[in-house]
Amino acid sequence: MTTNGDVLIRVENLQKAFGDFHALNGITEEIHKGEVVVIIGPSGSGKSTFLRSLNLLEVPTGGHIYFEGVDITDAKVDIDKHRQKMGMVFQHFNLLWSRTVKENIAFSMQIAGVPKAQIQARVAELVELVGLKGRENAYPSQLSGGQKQRVGIARALANHPDVLLCDEATSALDPQTTDQILDLLLDINRRFNLTIVLITHEMHVVRKICDRVAVMENGKVVEEGDVLSVFTHPQQPITRQFVRQVSQYAEEET
Ligand code: ADP
Ligand code: MG
Repeated sequence: MTTNGDVLIRVENLQKAFGDFHALNGITEEIHKGEVVVIIGPSGSGKSTFLRSLNLLEVPTGGHIYFEGVDITDAKVDIDKHRQKMGMVFQHFNLLWSRTVKENIAFSMQIAGVPKAQIQARVAELVELVGLKGRENAYPSQLSGGQKQRVGIARALANHPDVLLCDEATSALDPQTTDQILDLLLDINRRFNLTIVLITHEMHVVRKICDRVAVMENGKVVEEGDVLSVFTHPQQPITRQFVRQVSQYAEEET
C-alpha cells in the first residue's frame, strides 16, 4: 500500500550493543502510516534486534525512537501504553498452549483490563477476520501452522495497534501457507491502513509484498527503497546476492 506521508515511527541513529558487540550501528529510518516495510538481510545482521527495539523489548544503547512523535526512549514515557499500539507476530507463534484460540486472543485484552463483554465482541470479530470461525475452542496443538499464525495475528491485533511488527512470521510455514498468511496481512493492511514492518530472509515474501524494502547488513541499513527499484538496480553486494536468489527461485517456479 502507498504511504500517505505521515510518519508513524522515526528512528534516529539507533544503536544497540550487547557488551562489546554492536548489533545495531546507527540506524535512521522513517516508517510511514499505512505502509508495509520489509526488512531483509543475512542472519545476524540485526533485523530482530531492530524490530524488538521499536517497542523497547530491546532497550537501545543509543539514539532515539519517536512513536507518533513521542520519544519512547525517554525514561519518563509510559512504555506499556505505547507497546499496546504495537502488535507483535512471531516465527514460532508464541501461543499459550493450555489456552484455546479464543482465550489466546482474549489474553492481552484481559491484561489491559478491557471489560468482559467488550473482549467477547472483539474476539468474535478477530476470529472472523483471520478466518478461524468454527475453531474458537480448539487448542493450539489441534491447529495447523497456518492456523496457529492466524491466532498470532488476531492476538496481535486485539488492542487495535497502529503497527504490526512481524519477525519471520512465515518462516516456519510451507510456501502455500506463507502465501495465505501474507494475503491475510496485506488484506489487513489495506482494510485498516495498518502499518506493517515485516522481517524476512525469504525472497518469496519480498516479491509478494511489493512495497518498501530495507536491506540490513552488520547492524546497518545499507540500502532501501521501493522493492522494484532496489531489486532492478541493486547497489550493494549483499542486495545483489538476494536478487540472485530471487531469479533462481523464479526459474525453479516456472
Ligand atoms: P537477525 O535477526 O538479523 O538474524 P539478530 O538481531 O537476532 O539478527 O542478532 C544480531 C546480532 O546480535 C547477532 O550477532 C546476535 O548474536 C547478537 N545478539 C542478539 N541478541 C543478543 C543478546 N541478547 N545477547 C548478545 N548478543 C545478541
Ligand atoms: Mg532474527
